[in-house]
Formats: sequence, C-alpha cells, structure tokens
Amino acid sequence: MIKRHTEAMDVVVLGGGAAGVMAAVAAARNGADVLLVESQNCLGGSRTATGVDTFYGFFTPGDNPRKIVAGIPDEIVNRLRRENKLFDRPNTYGAGMGLTYDVEALKIAYEDLVLQSGCRLLFHTTACHVEAADGRVNSVWLANKAGLTEVKASYFIDTTGDADIVARAGGGFDAGSDDEPNQSLSTIFFMGNVDLEKAKKVSHREMTERMKEANKSGRFRLPREDGSYHRTPNPGVIQANMVRVSRIDATDPYSLTKAEIEGRKQVQEYAAFLKACIDGFENAFLIGTSQYIGVRETRKIDGHYKLTEEDVIAGRKFPDSIACCGAPVEDHHPGEGTRWVYVENGGYYHIPYRCLVPRSLQNVIVAGRCLSATHGAQASARNSAQAMAMGQAAGTAAALAAAAKQNFIDLDIGRLRRTLVEQHAIIE
Ligand SMILES: Cc1cc2nc3c(=O)[nH]c(=O)nc-3n(C[C@H](O)[C@H](O)[C@H](O)COP(=O)(O)OP(=O)(O)OC[C@H]3O[C@@H](n4cnc5c(N)ncnc54)[C@H](O)[C@@H]3O)c2cc1C
Repeated sequence: MIKRHTEAMDVVVLGGGAAGVMAAVAAARNGADVLLVESQNCLGGSRTATGVDTFYGFFTPGDNPRKIVAGIPDEIVNRLRRENKLFDRPNTYGAGMGLTYDVEALKIAYEDLVLQSGCRLLFHTTACHVEAADGRVNSVWLANKAGLTEVKASYFIDTTGDADIVARAGGGFDAGSDDEPNQSLSTIFFMGNVDLEKAKKVSHREMTERMKEANKSGRFRLPREDGSYHRTPNPGVIQANMVRVSRIDATDPYSLTKAEIEGRKQVQEYAAFLKACIDGFENAFLIGTSQYIGVRETRKIDGHYKLTEEDVIAGRKFPDSIACCGAPVEDHHPGEGTRWVYVENGGYYHIPYRCLVPRSLQNVIVAGRCLSATHGAQASARNSAQAMAMGQAAGTAAALAAAAKQNFIDLDIGRLRRTLVEQHAIIE
C-alpha cells in the first residue's frame, strides 16, 4: 500500500552518514523544514555502523599541519573530546593527524546534534524510488515497516554514499569498470583483552612481514598484508582494518551479499593470525565485526565539475570552493598493497561547489563519497572530515535555495560561501 505524505517538506536528506548528518543540521539551522532518512538504526554510516573510528582530513599531513575543516564537524569533535571519548592519533601511513573516537559516543552525539537542530529523523527507512520529470525530483518513495510512503519536497540532498537518488532520477554517474574497479571493501573488527604494551613492541613493518610469512606458509589466508590495527578509547580494545574484498559492486545486492560473507570469513583468519603471531594478542578475543561491510566507493555523480587526481596532487584552488582537503589519494585497489599519492608540498586543494551539483538535475545536490570526481580524486576527497564539510555546504545550499526558490546551480555562490564562513566553515 502506498501512503501519500500530506506535508510539503522544504528539504529531504536521504542517508544519515557523515555527510547526511551535517547536511540535515545545516539545512535546519538555516531555516529549512527538514526530514533526514536513514536505512540503518543509527547515524554515521561508515563512521559508526561500519566500525571505522577515526576522523581523518581535519588537518593536512606533514610537519606543519594546517587545520582545514571546522564548522559543524568541529562541534562533534569538541563534544567527544570534552567527554573523553576522542584522542589524537597520527595516521599509520603518514596521512596526517587522526581523531580516534568511541563509536557508541559518536552515534549519540550525531543524534543529539540532529534532533537539537529541529530536523525530523527516520531510521529503518530506505529511499527506494523517485518520481522525476524534466530534470526535477518531485518525490521520493520510502520503504519501511509501515509500507511505502511517498514524500514530496522542493529540494533533495542525496547523501546515500551510492548516489541512489541521482541514479534513480536518471542522473549520470560513473560506477567503476573492470579496467578501473572501485576500491576494495573492508569488514572492520574489534578485539578485546589485548596487552597493548606488549603488542606495541611489534612494529607495523614487522607485523606486515609476519603476515607475508603466514601467507607464504599457507598457515593463514590474508589477502591484504599492509592492514593495521590501533588502540581505541576503551582499555585493552583494538580496532582492526585488515580485510580486503575486491571487485565488488556494492550497489548490486548479490555482489554485496558475497562481500559480507567473504569479509566475515577473512575476519576469522585475521583474528586467528593476530592471536597466533603477534605478541600481546595471546589472550585476546574477537568482540565483533562491523554492522555491515565498509564500502569505500560506488557511484560518483556526473556533476558540473569533475575533480581529478591532477587537481588533488597539484593542490588546485577553485573560486567556488566550499571545502578544503589535504588527504592523500588512498587507493585500496584489488591485489596487494595500497596506492598512496600525497598532495604536493604538504598542501591542500579546494572542493568546488560544482562537484556537488548533478549536471542533469535541478533540485538535487549530493555530498560525501558520491561527489563528482574521478576514481583517483575520490580516493582522497572521501575522507570523513571532507564528507562532513561537504554536507554542511550542501545543507546550507539547500536552505538558501529553498528561501530563494532557485535551482542549485543558479544559487548565489558568494552568498553561500559567506554563510559558510559566518558559520565557521573553512573554505579557503
Ligand atoms: C573501511 C573503511 C575505512 C575508512 N577509514 C577511514 C578513516 O580511517 N578515516 C576517514 O576519515 N575516513 C575513512 N573512510 C572513509 C569515510 O569514512 C567515508 O568515505 C565517509 O564517511 C563517507 O561518508 P558518506 O556520508 O558520504 O557515506 P556513508 O558513510 O556511506 O553514508 C551513507 C549513509 O546513507 C545510508 N543510505 C544508503 N542508501 C540509502 C537509501 N537508499 N535510503 C536511506 N539511507 C541510505 C547508509 O545507511 C549510510 O548511513 C573509510 C571508509 C571505509 C569504508
């Protein structure tokens, strides 16, 4: 049965990950009537449900780190720091200072932020269909335990990570190919009762060597040999990012199911390897795996500008910048190793507003990992701090567009940028 929502919403945000949370809060604070829809039971997406527990991208890497993300994302960081649920932790691979947090604390911090903004929130609800005509989305169909509900709105923010709304509205996107496959997926896992003092005597390089030996001898099957683990805010508990599941299309449910099964199997292997081969893990146990497998890359929209790897490496600046990024290209390609390419001279680049606006849709904007970018550029811009910064920009743009009754691409960019700066975002 299809129920028709009687309310006319200003803005509907589809997907409550890092980008969607910020988009919803920014739109609501700037005066829009907002509904945030999330298919899982919590906010955060890759930040919480997939067990990833470190924000990167707030600072440029290198000896002279520069803070390049602030605004609403900072409110979350400051709260978690006040609560003693977050600490600074340099990246294992030199990608800059990370902020490692307690995942359960972040879920609550995101919920409070959203609810205090006046935004309405719906969990366990998936956007499954859109009604679109003449380059405009008129409504989205939501599937949940109540059946199907059609929700109408003037503006839609697609923060599904997979650009579901853009794809279903007929907008263009790049989905990866056999020649340039999307990045690999990883099931994150947590282990408890680790003797961290003992474990830290085994360097990352030494652990990689032991993984290679374990693979060669056939004792364990470890597809990625350069993965890592780190301590968490909870004593004796580590989070491990080691699993590698490649050549998966996470927008194909059968392919994604295969990935979940393979990811869980790999976790058993890696946990057994750590217990058997790494000092300090002798009495450790597997606490659990992430709610779902971590997806780094699926669809990237065809926007008014496509960010390239050359833009990233050169630290290119754009007049319509709405966010900054200094994160390296971190390409988790199939096979061994990970491709790292750093921004020249420890610099940073701008993310242009045009990367958020689909070329063929007038009242839809995206934020987060589905921005308009090449495979290489997305492998940098997908960092969580940038997803949040893009979210703040998209939400602010939606509120301004709603007030002015304008299409996203016709928005007064100067006004958007001034509003972002007034609200403490860093855009230069
Ligand atoms: C394994 C892994 C490790 C990573 N490590 C780090 C790291 O250490 N530091 C860092 O900064 N970044 C890291 N990243 C990258 C970063 O976490 C993500 O790129 C970023 O958080 C993406 O945010 P997002 O909001 O764009 O997308 P997502 O986090 O994917 O959020 C999308 C949300 O939309 C919801 N959704 C999807 N489809 C629908 C629909 N149709 N209807 C309703 N809801 C829907 C999903 O449930 C999800 O909550 C990692 C990513 C992965 C996968």
